[in-house]
Amino acid sequence: MATVEDVDFAKQDGLVPCVTQDARTGRVLMLGYMDEQALEQTLATGEMHYWSRSRQELWHKGETSGNTQRLVGLAADCDRDTLLAIVDPAGPACHTGETSCFFDEVADEAIPILPRLQEVVDHRRQAQPEGSWTSRLLREEDLAEAKVEEEAAEVVARARGEDDGDPLAHEIADLWYHSLVLANKHGVDLADVLAELADRR
Ligand SMILES: [Zn+2]
Repeated sequence: MATVEDVDFAKQDGLVPCVTQDARTGRVLMLGYMDEQALEQTLATGEMHYWSRSRQELWHKGETSGNTQRLVGLAADCDRDTLLAIVDPAGPACHTGETSCFFDEVADEAIPILPRLQEVVDHRRQAQPEGSWTSRLLREEDLAEAKVEEEAAEVVARARGEDDGDPLAHEIADLWYHSLVLANKHGVDLADVLAELADRR
């Protein structure tokens, strides 16, 4: 296992890039730089510190915005000149208010599917577009609840070989999607569910 002393700060003028990832959703949040002091402060306080290249100073992430990042895990890459920080963020990583700095997709599907679905559901709740099934699920009394029940029954029927409808993966995807919407309707988001799973490890 690498230790702090093993991190190769010499290679890039005292700085190492740090990729920061959400512990709960797996989404890559940002890329920052760390000097030795930033790494020491991060480990000492349990909150992410970076070296701000624009301001040329130690940067305690979230100090002014409140959007701190609690350190959950840290890894060095194979040649120990890049870090991967796994964090529990208190708010958006990006100064634009986006969850992740990487929201501007150059090619499709740059966001993992579950966080992407969560964002779609959040958007539907806020914008309530006409004709959106997700909006209806969020709005209508007992619709999401009834759908989860129905989809769960379809998964089980398929698994038992009681019907020869859609493939099992299709039925499970329906169940997961409707469960995600139902959770959202009741103020629980994907991160809460994933955190629950992580706690059981
Ligand atoms: Zn950003």
